[in-house]
Amino acid sequence: MEIYQLPAFADNYLYILQDLERKIAAVVDPGDPIPVLQKLRELDTPLVAIFNTHHHSDHIGGNRQLLQHFPQAVVYGGAGDRGRIPGQQVFLQDGDRLEFGDRKAEVLFVPGHTLGHIAYFFTPLAPDRGGELFCGDTLFAGGCGRLFEGSPSQMLNSLDKLRQLPEATRVWCAHEYTLSNLQFALTLEPQNQALQNRYAQVKAARLRSQPTVPSDIGIEKTTNPFFRWDQPALMALTQNQDPVKSFAKLRRMKDQF
Ligand code: ZN
Ligand code: FE
Repeated sequence: MEIYQLPAFADNYLYILQDLERKIAAVVDPGDPIPVLQKLRELDTPLVAIFNTHHHSDHIGGNRQLLQHFPQAVVYGGAGDRGRIPGQQVFLQDGDRLEFGDRKAEVLFVPGHTLGHIAYFFTPLAPDRGGELFCGDTLFAGGCGRLFEGSPSQMLNSLDKLRQLPEATRVWCAHEYTLSNLQFALTLEPQNQALQNRYAQVKAARLRSQPTVPSDIGIEKTTNPFFRWDQPALMALTQNQDPVKSFAKLRRMKDQF
């Protein structure tokens, strides 16, 4: 499976998945149909599936137009987003399995940013390889999504689920927010060597206008405060020994950053 990362709007990433053997394509969160149609033409490959992570317009805005070009494409989304995703035909729940070409994916229910948010985890091809995680606006490189609909405890549980995926899993999130996320992270953990190194790499990449996505689960575990809410140093900083309250405090601090 080939993965193509397409920039859209100010800071979104859309993803086209291509199965080379079967000559079929899928798209994850097509907020803007134009770059998707352009890439599909270039690949000369028909679209058979649209995978939506949640109902926000920068993730579903292209569904209708893509369906006009590819009426046979199947639209997947979370069961909780029923009525909010144009053309949705498949209503997914936690643990559901699906296939695209020769790849299998597992659906993870990850509420918090929205109440119906799901992530698509394409399982590793071999035990020593990573999977491919499409997590929308739940987990970002160095950060996490804002709590528009869900509670801190929902988001904590969702991130805890993602934290347990194999470390080599690549994280294909939906926005390029890494630099500002790491700037915030450094105010919390200025002594974290892994974080300092990552910040330097990300800063250099952004100066060259290069994407800092995908990330992987392993690097998020060592540098992302929203994967590290239960680290003693961060619990001390929020002055809260209750993990949910500590997490909520970190998220509020980021909102004000
Ligand atoms: Zn969103
Ligand atoms: Fe978004």
